[in-house]
Amino acid sequence: SSTLACLSFARMVTMSNLRSHDDTWDIATSVGSTAVMVAAARAQETDSPNPLIRDPYARLLVAGAGAGMWENFLENSMQERIAAADPQIAAIFANMLSYQAVRTHFFDAFFTAAVESGVRQVVILASGLDSRAYRLDWPDGTVVFEIDQPKVLEYKSAMLAGHGAVPTADRREVAIDLRQDWPAALKAAGFDPARPTAWLAEGLLMYLPAEAQDRLFEQITELSAPGSRVSAEAVRHNAEEKRARMRERWEKMADELGIERNVDISDLIYNDPHRADVTEWLNAHGWSATGTVSSDEMRRLDRWVEVDDEDYQDGFSTFVVAERH
Ligand code: SAM
Repeated sequence: SSTLACLSFARMVTMSNLRSHDDTWDIATSVGSTAVMVAAARAQETDSPNPLIRDPYARLLVAGAGAGMWENFLENSMQERIAAADPQIAAIFANMLSYQAVRTHFFDAFFTAAVESGVRQVVILASGLDSRAYRLDWPDGTVVFEIDQPKVLEYKSAMLAGHGAVPTADRREVAIDLRQDWPAALKAAGFDPARPTAWLAEGLLMYLPAEAQDRLFEQITELSAPGSRVSAEAVRHNAEEKRARMRERWEKMADELGIERNVDISDLIYNDPHRADVTEWLNAHGWSATGTVSSDEMRRLDRWVEVDDEDYQDGFSTFVVAERH
């Protein structure tokens, strides 16, 4: 097993330069700052002429985070500046923003369907700056648990309380790392494993090693009464050459825009070739799961943005939804 441990350590080092098994962060650093990135995309969408989703809290959450470069994405002139500098990068950027809007829309619909089926217990894993506990129309008696690192949760609730925002459900914070004993912390916060639950893992799995992803879904399965539902954004493994090309484009975009690159997302991600396919895993472990390729969902909603580049012809992820049987 020490050989195994060594091997997996070596893999971790090569796959994620900035990560360790017990790393921590706040909203402005490391993995925490990625929550600001996706909230910035929601803010942009909310302010756009025909928004697919509305997140009235995204802008203020991004503006107060102190996460450097992502605040630039709040400027509405950003897209015009990119388009002037480099049309291809502009298309990639537009595709990315549209992807985030479609992703939010998809998982909003997941929760709407779950509460319509009678589920009143919700767990948002790695909730980051997700404001669903404040912006969705939850039926009376719905409890929404949010799990994330302590400083991330602290930032969001303090910021929203400071602006007079009130949760639309019984919102409970579970401040713990998902690589620790979060089921115990969740139960201590009042979670009842006997009741059906709707789970969400959005923008999370790529930040977990493959083994931690398997463990997470094992724990979710153990805690899920019949009638429970789970949804996840599942990412695929990308070849190193593709990652290098994407990194180059990203650096080019940041340089053209004069944005300080204080974090490189690809250094935070575990791009593990052995990661389980979430749909297959769930179907083999007591769930009925289906996957929707993100580009198909973007096309269905007429939000696909063409990018003249072979790396951008298929979807970035699969949106998985499953029911416990
Ligand atoms: N789900 C939110 C959304 O879509 O807006 C946030 C997504 S953000 C890209 C990633 C989030 O995952 C961050 O808030 C980060 O703190 C959280 N996260 C990543 N790994 C985690 C872990 N091991 N334990 C707890 N939270 C984690």
